[in-house]
Amino acid sequence: APGSLVDREAEKDNEATVVAFSNTSYSTMTMAEQRQQLPVYKHRTEFLYLLETYQVVILVGQTGSGKTTQIPQYMHEAGWTAKGRVVACTQPRRVAATTVAQRVAEEMNVKLGTEVGYTIRFEDCTDPGGKTRIKYMTDGMLFRETLMDPLLSKYSVIMLDEAHERSLYTDILMGVLKKILKKRPDLRIVISSATLDAEAFAAFFSTSTHTPHGSDLSIKDKENMDKKENTVILSVQGRMYPVDIHYLAEPSSNYIESAIQSVFDIHTKEPAGDILVFMTGREEIEQVVSEIRERATTLPPNKYAEILALPIYAGLPPEEQMLVFEPTERRTRKVVVATNVAEASITIPGIGYVIDSGFVKIRAYNPRTGMEALTTTTISQASADQRAGRAGRVRNGKAYRLYTEKSLTEMRSASVPEIQRSNLAGMVLQLKALGIENVLRFDFMTSPPAEMMSKALELLYSLKALDDYGRLTIPLGMRLAEFPLDPLLGKILLDSGKFGCSQEMLTIAAMVSVQNIFVNPTSIAAEEQHRKFGVMEGDHITLLNVYNAFVSRGKKSARWCANHLLNFKAMSRALSIRSHLERYLVRVLNLAGPSELTSCSSSLGHVDNRHHHGRRGQDQEDREEAKEMTLKIRRCLVSGYFAQAARIAPDGTHWISVREASAISTAGGANYVPTKLWMHPTSILFKQTPKWVIFHEVVETGQNKAYMREITAIEPEWLEELAPHFYILKRQHSA
Ligand code: ADP
Ligand code: MG
Repeated sequence: APGSLVDREAEKDNEATVVAFSNTSYSTMTMAEQRQQLPVYKHRTEFLYLLETYQVVILVGQTGSGKTTQIPQYMHEAGWTAKGRVVACTQPRRVAATTVAQRVAEEMNVKLGTEVGYTIRFEDCTDPGGKTRIKYMTDGMLFRETLMDPLLSKYSVIMLDEAHERSLYTDILMGVLKKILKKRPDLRIVISSATLDAEAFAAFFSTSTHTPHGSDLSIKDKENMDKKENTVILSVQGRMYPVDIHYLAEPSSNYIESAIQSVFDIHTKEPAGDILVFMTGREEIEQVVSEIRERATTLPPNKYAEILALPIYAGLPPEEQMLVFEPTERRTRKVVVATNVAEASITIPGIGYVIDSGFVKIRAYNPRTGMEALTTTTISQASADQRAGRAGRVRNGKAYRLYTEKSLTEMRSASVPEIQRSNLAGMVLQLKALGIENVLRFDFMTSPPAEMMSKALELLYSLKALDDYGRLTIPLGMRLAEFPLDPLLGKILLDSGKFGCSQEMLTIAAMVSVQNIFVNPTSIAAEEQHRKFGVMEGDHITLLNVYNAFVSRGKKSARWCANHLLNFKAMSRALSIRSHLERYLVRVLNLAGPSELTSCSSSLGHVDNRHHHGRRGQDQEDREEAKEMTLKIRRCLVSGYFAQAARIAPDGTHWISVREASAISTAGGANYVPTKLWMHPTSILFKQTPKWVIFHEVVETGQNKAYMREITAIEPEWLEELAPHFYILKRQHSA
């Protein structure tokens, strides 16, 4: 086929042969043999020696060389976990923390959650009796632990893994750990990275040469490097096989379709080897997986191997995540469709082919709107290399890039560290809570832009978490810092008592913290089901209704969820998150128990569903009562989400952030084009035109259209009333 990515030669090789599938050798080896095959194994003794001698060991090695799964085990075996001490290994991604912990538990032949465990937000799978010796955790969770235990005293070694990714919390932890090291000479830090940026990390931690923001090393510094008494670099050379890289001749207008096409090109023309496809997010991944499954059924049955298409992304239930690691049957080609998590954080054995969309979904801060959005952007050259490299781990591989060679040269060489493109409010709050008053002078690996710092401070001030002098307020600021939620949502919960709706807010906070509540949300059948829970006030109260129905009418059953096209796993997660949050709230507010939490509904925690289909004749009183309840909830939402408010544009087709709208009217710039915000198609308010709304988050699509998600209609007066310090509104109600 024209534009086919597969080279002719390979095609020829295979014309006559029905592709012979041999299982990759790893599955015939014992666990111990597999472990000894890994490149890090040769460096085991050296590594352990360096760890005795140096406080900071920087470990560089290609992905798949065994850093994440092996190094913590070596430390455990060498006695670093004796006397009740723990080895921590942080991960920027939840999926990595859980799947790696599972793998290591298998290798050690222990039950997950005993000697080996993991901690991610809202989920603690470690031994309650303190038996856990190796703890995988998200970097955000370890940072949070510093609030309770500033010296992280129970850990003997902290391994900051995937440091090359430069995630927000890994970066912050580097600064925090550098301080802790001074007070804890016994502590060891391992920084592990898949790329060769080791020297910047070394410069940051070194005691002999001080390079404040560490990237530009002079020759002299480099010479000193070896003499540094506390920091050392260990490089682990992994074996890599060559990877053939193929580009598109012409840019693709639809990378999803191109990806599917490439899968079948490879499958029908190339020899054995599993395929790894990089997509940007859940929706795309599910689409690609289901189309591959569908089209696979149209292939002539005996000519080709079977195709087994599997997704992997963060919102997927853990059991399903683990499926991608399972060895396949003979004569089956596995196609794993993944987010960026498969770029470096996890390694799937047996991959021979990589298909790279060239895109990634990242959080990006928009200083104009003051908001962070999930947005799809072009990857960096470093990412492209990493992705391609995943095909060359076990033998020669092939990588198909769904972009042109020219566009590769236009990519930035490395990704921007997250700290330079994030909403910093939560991080600043936590630093303040750690007693770091002057956050601007904090020892950052890379400093965030001053403008983003001041936006964060401004937001925290408007939330009343900081006082006029920029100090953390007591108790609100302190409590907010301790809360495992975004400060906006945390503020809503902490304030919910005043509005008399704490029970309801706990539910709403839990529901917005879970992804994928609705199954196939845009299908007609699903819409019909979901409308039953829907209210005109918007998504937050709709989610509350879904939850309450699940608990009362649905008896928390999987069956009921299936009938209503709701995702049972997600609902169960909401249930557990809610109880987590409830415990937090009770503790933080010093209440005797959950019964002291306010509720605005007559029957505890249940807002009557007044828009239920076919329920006419509900009497006036009920309606009035329901209206009262929803009013309380909406006002309470505004008390925190005020910073994420939007008003409809004059033409009535889209919305503009209230912040930006007022900036325009003050600046008076006629040429200024504000960011257009759209209703997400899954919102219950889609196709409605509420004049003023607040929303939970913004997601951007490939076409750079910004969609608001989880939206509630509000009254503009509430903004002035509940956030006067944020909005000095010279309000025009004309909209
Ligand atoms: P690194 O951290 O250096 O990228 P890992 O420690 O994550 O490497 O992986 C080492 C090896 O362990 C991989 O090459 C892979 O073969 C194997 N491996 C990792 N996770 C799993 C898993 N869940 N199932 C099977 N094999 C795995
Ligand atoms: Mg790793």
